[in-house]
Amino acid sequence: MKLINCADVLVLGAGPAALCIASELVQHGLDVQAIASQSPEEPWPNTYGIWAEELESLNMADLLEHRWTKTVSFFGSGQGDFGKLPTTHDFDYGLFDQKAFQKTLLKKCEGLSWIIETVESIVFKEGNTQVKCASGETFWARIVIDASGHKSSFVKRPYKELVAQQAAYGVVGKFSSPPVDKEQFVLMDFRPDHLNQKQLSEPPSFLYAMDFGNDIYFVEETSLASAPPLSFKSLKERLDLRLSHRGITIQEILHEEHCLFPMNLPLPYLDQPLLAFGGSASMVHPASGYMVGALLRRSPSLAKELAKLISINPKLDSYHLAKHAWKVLWTPELVQRHRLYQFGLERLMSFDEQLLRKFFATFFKLPTRHWYGFLANTLPLPKLVIVMLRLFYIAPLEVKIGMTGLPKII
Ligand SMILES: Cc1cc2nc3c(=O)[nH]c(=O)nc-3n(C[C@H](O)[C@H](O)[C@H](O)COP(=O)(O)OP(=O)(O)OC[C@H]3O[C@@H](n4cnc5c(N)ncnc54)[C@H](O)[C@@H]3O)c2cc1C
Repeated sequence: MKLINCADVLVLGAGPAALCIASELVQHGLDVQAIASQSPEEPWPNTYGIWAEELESLNMADLLEHRWTKTVSFFGSGQGDFGKLPTTHDFDYGLFDQKAFQKTLLKKCEGLSWIIETVESIVFKEGNTQVKCASGETFWARIVIDASGHKSSFVKRPYKELVAQQAAYGVVGKFSSPPVDKEQFVLMDFRPDHLNQKQLSEPPSFLYAMDFGNDIYFVEETSLASAPPLSFKSLKERLDLRLSHRGITIQEILHEEHCLFPMNLPLPYLDQPLLAFGGSASMVHPASGYMVGALLRRSPSLAKELAKLISINPKLDSYHLAKHAWKVLWTPELVQRHRLYQFGLERLMSFDEQLLRKFFATFFKLPTRHWYGFLANTLPLPKLVIVMLRLFYIAPLEVKIGMTGLPKII
């Protein structure tokens, strides 16, 4: 039954996930509405990084505000000449121009009507979906896509007691001396030489840092994944300690970033009548924390499928539309890959800082195509398995043991 004022699709949210999927749906000529607590013009609070190739393959590389060719990591002890040596990645990394990215997606959303409201409940009635807002207003759609981020209480998923979180505390600012080399991007600086014994036994963290030019740098102390997460206080202390150990002080803070999001949120139930996209659909890469590339790659096929279903069969209800759409969003292949990544993350979280450094030093010895494909989640399943086996094969014995989960015997 098609109600009056019932949109084809109602998208919930105005973050990158909502804009990616809404813009694709609009391109298919669907009647799309979007509800978000904040105006879609409101600047996004996070800085988004991505491997440049992910955008090049989508012809969107012009959306990068910063791009680095000198990309390195540090997995040594930090002591002696050898322990200070970087691992060079020789692969471009970039940061989005947030404004341009948001503007580009919003332009593609032209024709869509925005409602600024906070959604309080979502119910399924007579084949359609009803969304109730804090103001008491209600809206109807044939299908709702929840893109309200990882905290969504609307999407149903299996319960997991301890979800690992990525946590980071970062500063964009001016420093007494450069925290990284000029024009350099540091993906992970795991050197631990500034930590005491107690800190060394706690969950590891690394420095993610880059030169923005004009004597401005971004430095962020990051814990890849931990349950419970590292506190912002301890990350800030570690960052201060790391910098002071190198004789560096922060002279001016231009922006502070507090980052906390789940890495291994269970996949949503794929038979529910509410569809989701982005953080709410557990699309964050469980082994790296990246998601924006996946949003850009996976939104066109999802929108295409929905457009096809909606236009060819006006009788399909929310349950059937969502059932088909979930299968496109989370194909069996993507589910299997996700499981492998989750397994990998579980293993990594059991590593102490020394083992983690050895693991990553090995990981980046893989051919660039392999480690990049693993991190971007662009390798087909058989290839991903081969890459993981190859990683196992080239890993030192103690990393091998850690990867299998067997108790340490040596
Ligand atoms: C600090 C930080 C840095 C990150 N950096 C990167 C990175 O460099 N690269 C990368 O790929 N990923 C990164 N991520 C991971 C991930 O890409 C982000 O979390 C991303 O913002 C998730 O997008 P989203 O659109 O799903 O959710 P969000 O960005 O959280 O957007 C949710 C939207 O829903 C709206 N909303 C929420 N609840 C309601 C409601 N009840 N009613 C109406 N509207 C509602 C919000 O107002 C918002 O507009 C980062 C995450 C964080 C937190």
